[in-house]
This record gives sequence, structure tokens and C-alpha cells, in this order.
Amino acid sequence: MKVLVSDNLSPKGIEILKQAGLKVVFKTGLKPEELKKEIKDCDGLVIRSATKVTPDIIGAAGKLKVIGRAGIGLDNVDIPAASKKGIIVMNTPGGNVVTTAEHTITMLLTLSRNIPQATASMKAGKWEKKKFTGREVFNKTLGIIGIGRIGSIVADRARGLKMHVIAYDPYIRPETAEKLGVGLVSLDDLYTRSDYISIHVPLTKDTKDLINRESFAKMKDGVMLINCSRGGIVDEDALYEAMQSGKVAGAALDVFAQEPPPESYPLFAMDKFICTPHLGAATEEAQENVAVAVANQLVDFLKNGNISNAVNFPSVSSDVLAGIQPYLTLVEKMGSFQMQIAKGGIQEVTIEYVGDVANMDTRPITIAMLKGLFAPILKHDVNFVNAPIIAKERGVKVTELKSTTTEDFTNLITLRVKTPQEENAISGTIFGKKELRLVRINTFRLEAVLEGHMLFIYNIDEPGVIGAIGTTMGKAGLNIARMHVGQETGPGRNVILLNTNAPVSAKVLKEMLKIPHVVSAQPLEF
Ligand code: NAD
Repeated sequence: MKVLVSDNLSPKGIEILKQAGLKVVFKTGLKPEELKKEIKDCDGLVIRSATKVTPDIIGAAGKLKVIGRAGIGLDNVDIPAASKKGIIVMNTPGGNVVTTAEHTITMLLTLSRNIPQATASMKAGKWEKKKFTGREVFNKTLGIIGIGRIGSIVADRARGLKMHVIAYDPYIRPETAEKLGVGLVSLDDLYTRSDYISIHVPLTKDTKDLINRESFAKMKDGVMLINCSRGGIVDEDALYEAMQSGKVAGAALDVFAQEPPPESYPLFAMDKFICTPHLGAATEEAQENVAVAVANQLVDFLKNGNISNAVNFPSVSSDVLAGIQPYLTLVEKMGSFQMQIAKGGIQEVTIEYVGDVANMDTRPITIAMLKGLFAPILKHDVNFVNAPIIAKERGVKVTELKSTTTEDFTNLITLRVKTPQEENAISGTIFGKKELRLVRINTFRLEAVLEGHMLFIYNIDEPGVIGAIGTTMGKAGLNIARMHVGQETGPGRNVILLNTNAPVSAKVLKEMLKIPHVVSAQPLEF
């Protein structure tokens, strides 16, 4: 397999890829046309922030399976285009968190003690002791917006400096904040109480311009602001006004709405404004961490199929994967069964997890079901990444239900599929560790193994029918490896599932339908 590394990557990362037996092409600074050429026969692509992975590039990638970003930001990758083509997009969120938290603390102390301004002044031959009198951070309140990976390290380091730390993060549990020694507060509370405010949230539609004119108005006079998260979260015009009015005594930005900012950037004119060119993650250690992480993730995926830190697929560790693997296979087959028997376009799919399986991470299982569902009509164009997108594009409503109370089985998965003409419900289970069984087709109970070539028959339950089916198959030279018969609770109809040694031809099918009491017969492939 071949991997293209198109941005600078620490040599340790390259080494890991090579040692795993992957062919590595290391070419940086490629123009789009050159990149399109190089990527044509690559299985993996490793990037940092420079390579722009546009839909055009993705279109040229014939067999690309994975894009790995050494770092976090994926603004340079068209994720929907990659997902649509079934390409896993991974980043390495853990690798630079300490580095970025340290940059934040550096900004906080540097702001407080006017280090850059004093350095510039001395270098200009001056000795301005009074002008650069600073402030202590001891006993001051630091308000952290977003107490995730980086925010919590900042909190820990700030507590080491004996600061009081409060945080606003509506998505974390109070117990988690408590463990960090951080008080969770409302955003307004954070504004009114903080001497320093540091931002550690992702840029989303909710956080765009989160720090705006109204926010500044609520802040303490003389507050200091630090942003080492993403540009666009602080409204920079509003910050300029707040610095001019003296509301904000100092601000430190590592990230900007436009990077690099334009030459005439108003904040450059402010004495108490300090800045770094998106250096939050820029240490040797972090570069190496992310390079090693991305290389390991890529190898683990390309060689073992393990997915971690994918932004377009739930992460599955090999442990979890080992636990859910039989269910992935079971539901893929159930999905495929449903599509093969469906009459009309599928409108709605409901997957219900009952028993032990309901306690597992079922997201990958539902995705596997969708992959199985579309496989009979899309073949290799559907995979774990694009299956949910295909469902959405086709207007298929997908619902997941869970219940831990069981009746006949310790675990049971029921898949209901609705078309304008009909609704079919089938159930499957795992016996022991990995014996997959289809145990129900609508009202029929049975115990069938879905594999290879099969024939699915509905018949009226009358003597002699099964014998006639066997004779027809035998005459056609078809061997029946297994026969599963499902009966309705009262007398009436049967379903029969036959495993055959070869596909059942149209001619045999015609003969089969001539047998009295055979209502329908349909070949299936698994
Ligand atoms: P994370 O996902 O671990 O944490 C983000 C936190 O923000 C989460 O706890 C989440 O609940 C919270 N959050 C989300 N929306 C929120 C909202 N509207 N209000 C309040 N809280 C909200 O991410 P992380 O790894 O800690 O990274 C934080 C930020 O730092 C990201 O934007 C990341 O891109 C950026 N970053 C920048 C650099 C750099 O070079 N400057 C380097 C690494 C990361």
C-alpha cells in the first residue's frame, strides 16, 4: 500500500509508516495538479495544514481510503466530499494539548508582565521601568470558556499559579469540573467575575463571534483576554473597541479570523495587544507527538482496519471492535437481507437493540446495518463512512431504539424496513460468542444462517411441498447444504431458507414456482 505525505512531517512519523511496510512518497509543496497526479494510486494521505484537500483532489484519488491530519484543525479538508467517497478522515487531537495549554499560560504571564513590549523597548535602547509595571496573577480569577482537553490543562497549570479557576462549558458534567478543581458557572457569571478570560472551544456556528460587543460590556474593567483556540470566536473589531475604551487591559491572540491578518490590522496599533502567528501547537514535542500519532493511526487502519480519531466515523478501538465484530457482521447481513426482499423504495429503517447489545456503543453497528442495506444495490460504492450519507441522500429515515429488558434471547437485534408497499421486520441474534442467526422473519420463527447462495421461499404448509422443492433442486444439480424452515404459530404458511452450493438460476426458479403451494421463491446472496 502507498501513502503520500504531502506536508512536513517529523521523521519519526515517516519511519513508522515505512516500518509497517507501507510505500511512502514524501513530497511537500505540491501544486493542485501535481497533487492530483501523486494521489491517484495512494491508499493513504498524511497532511498538516498546508495541503488543501478539495473535492477536485478527492475526485482524483482512485483508491484513497484514509486522510490523516497530524494535528487537529481540518479546515483544509473537504470532509463531506471525503465522506461521500467513503474516505476516513482522522486527526490527532491528543498530541498537542499540553503544548497549546503551555502557550496559553505563556500568553497569560507575558500579557501580565509586558514582556514583548519591554523587550522591544530595551532593544530600542530604552530603560522604561515604570512604563512596564505589571500585575500578579496570584489570587486572580481565570475564566475558561470550554474546559475540554486543553482548557482542563490550562486550569491545572493556572491552579499551580494559585489562581482561582472558573469555567463555562455547557457540555461537561459538574463532577468532571469538580475533579479539576474548577467551578462551573454561567457565561455571564464568568464575564463578571474573571480577571483573565481564556477561550478553548472549537469554532462552531454557536461559538462564531461568541466574544462580541455585548460580552465585552459584561466583563470586568481591566480584564485580559487570551485566545489560543480558533480565529473567528472573538469579534476582533469589538476587541479593538474594548481595548481602546480601556475595558480590556490586554489581549493575546494566537489565532485570527483571517490568517495571516491583513497588514492594516487595527489591533497591531494597540500597545497592550500581543500576538503569535498560530503557534499554539508549535513545539518540537507536539510536532513529533502528532506525527507519531497520525502514522500509528494510519498503519492501524490500513493494516488492521482499526479506526481511531476519525471525524466521519465513530472511533472504534480494537477491544471494542473485537466485542462488536459479530454484531457488525450480523447486521450487515440483516441489512442486505432486507434490501433483497424489499418491494419498493425504502422510506424508513428502525433498528432495535434489546438485551446486552443495548449497552454497547451501537453507533458503528447501525452504520454497518446501513452498509449492508445499500450493498445489494450499490456494491462497493457503499462503505462504513458513506453509508449514513447515502441513507440521508436517499431520504431514508433511520431510527435507533434500545431496551435492556429481554425475553427469549440475551441479545436481539430487530430491523424493520418500511417501503410504500410493505413493512418487513427481521430479528437476529448471536449464539455463544459468534454464531450468527436470523431468528425471525415477520411472524415466522426460525434459526437460519445467512451465508453464500440462498433461496427464500414462501409456501403453504401442506404435506409434500418440501419434498418437491428438494426434487426440483436435485434435478437442477443444486446441492442443499442447509434448510431452515420457519412456521407461523398456527397452521398456515412456512418460510424456507435454503443454502445452496451455487446460485439458483431463473430456469430453476420458474420450476420452483410451478410446485403447488409454493407462493414465492427468491434467490439471495450473502
Ligand atoms: P476539546 O474538544 O477537548 O474541548 C472543547 C471544549 O469546548 C469541550 O469541552 C466542549 O464541551 C466545549 N464547548 C463546545 N462548544 C461550546 C460552547 N458553545 N460554549 C462553551 N463550551 C463549548 O478541544 P481541545 O482539544 O481542548 O481544543 C480546544 C480548541 O483549541 C479547539 O478550537 C482547537 O481547534 C484549538 N487548538 C488550537 C491550537 C493552536 O495552535 N492555537 C492547537 C490545538 C488546538
